[in-house]
Amino acid sequence: MTHLIEPASSGRAKCRACGQPIDKGELRFGERAPNAFGDGEMTLWFHPACAALARPEPLLELLAEASHAELLDDAASLQRDAETSLQHPRLCRIAGGQRSPTGRARCRHCKELIAKDEWRIALGFFEDGRMQPGGFIHDSCAAEYFGSDEILERVRHFSPEFKT
Ligand SMILES: [Zn+2]
Ligand SMILES: [Zn+2]
Repeated sequence: MTHLIEPASSGRAKCRACGQPIDKGELRFGERAPNAFGDGEMTLWFHPACAALARPEPLLELLAEASHAELLDDAASLQRDAETSLQHPRLCRIAGGQRSPTGRARCRHCKELIAKDEWRIALGFFEDGRMQPGGFIHDSCAAEYFGSDEILERVRHFSPEFKT
């Protein structure tokens, strides 16, 4: 199973981490995985920066091959982000963040309600080839839940308006 990096041949594929289209001609990371629905393999496409946050293992496998790594201008920062993700695996669950639209969701960390309009971080779990919604935590619970202080930048990768 060999992962790949290549310019996107069309603008139709969506990133499996952020859900946004990958522009035609933009470099995309392909994670080769067993086909969940039949024989053979399938390719899951990602923005390389999204893979560093959400799928560190396959991206690090790719970066270990110099011929692949040299295609990427930002290989060093991708490597660093992916290693941080491996050290603190819960960071891979960050799927974005927003002000809570209601006061009904419970924090997955402290189990208390998240007040309306309070900042919350959305969690996702990578299953069946994509990020599945996994609930929310209080922004104030984030440091304890993730065990890292590299949180804000990662939330803003998926939700640029977070806490602005
Ligand atoms: Zn993406
Ligand atoms: Zn909480």
